[in-house]
Amino acid sequence: MKFMVCGSGDAVGIPGLFCRCPVCVSARENGGKERRSRTGYLLGDAVKFDFGPDTAMQARELGFDLTKLRRIFITHSHSDHFGAEELWNQTLGVSAPEQIVTLYGNTEVLKQLAPYRNFGITLQTQLLRSGETVSFDGIRVTAIATDHIPTEECLMYLIETPGKNVLIANDSDRFPESAFALLKNRRVDHIFIDATWGVEHREHQGHMGLPAIREIVARLRRQNTLTPESHIWAVHVSHLAAPLPCTKFPAALDDNPCMEWSYDGLTVDLV
Ligand SMILES: [Zn+2]
Ligand SMILES: [Zn+2]
Ligand SMILES: [Zn+2]
Repeated sequence: MKFMVCGSGDAVGIPGLFCRCPVCVSARENGGKERRSRTGYLLGDAVKFDFGPDTAMQARELGFDLTKLRRIFITHSHSDHFGAEELWNQTLGVSAPEQIVTLYGNTEVLKQLAPYRNFGITLQTQLLRSGETVSFDGIRVTAIATDHIPTEECLMYLIETPGKNVLIANDSDRFPESAFALLKNRRVDHIFIDATWGVEHREHQGHMGLPAIREIVARLRRQNTLTPESHIWAVHVSHLAAPLPCTKFPAALDDNPCMEWSYDGLTVDLV
């Protein structure tokens, strides 16, 4: 089973439409891995994580087929991760009632979806709270609350498969104690961790930079969540995260050589 990073950028993406900073100028000129659309992921071909404004573009450019989609897990309601109207728009006129999709999210996400009716697919919704697990096809997806904004329960997702395990941890400041407790002794092979602020950290801004990532990784290693072989991928990358552009994280994460920038289209094999 494959896990794909459909988009690796922050709410702006790179290049920013109105930005002439060196990161955006370089991305505009060079394209490739320097270009970043808004963060989202695909597990296999039937499970999507987040459904932001770049989802349709990502499906077309990366060539994934959402007619096979069965589940959508939403991290939180910010518009770079979820758009109720966009989801509704994408089902207009498709008349595929046999495609049953279950969308999982917090109360704010479900509230934003509630006014929309007559989807072209059969859309079901399920409220997820921190600590709850959804099981299907030998896969377990566990919601874990994190510290991002105070107005809703923003969720990380632990994906446990018969092979490798993944932790989606974008849009997060330092993890709360409850998250460490839920992750204790549960192995994570690939963590996609919020690196919005790049090599610096900005306190209490709802995102992370390298100093905070270092602390989180060290603690997750001590409690056997991360091993020395685990891959640590920076995601939700911002044009504010100087120095960019690069594909290798500029500062090594202590003794771990696996800290790298993720990028749009990155695929890891979970077998
Ligand atoms: Zn975001
Ligand atoms: Zn810029
Ligand atoms: Zn957010």
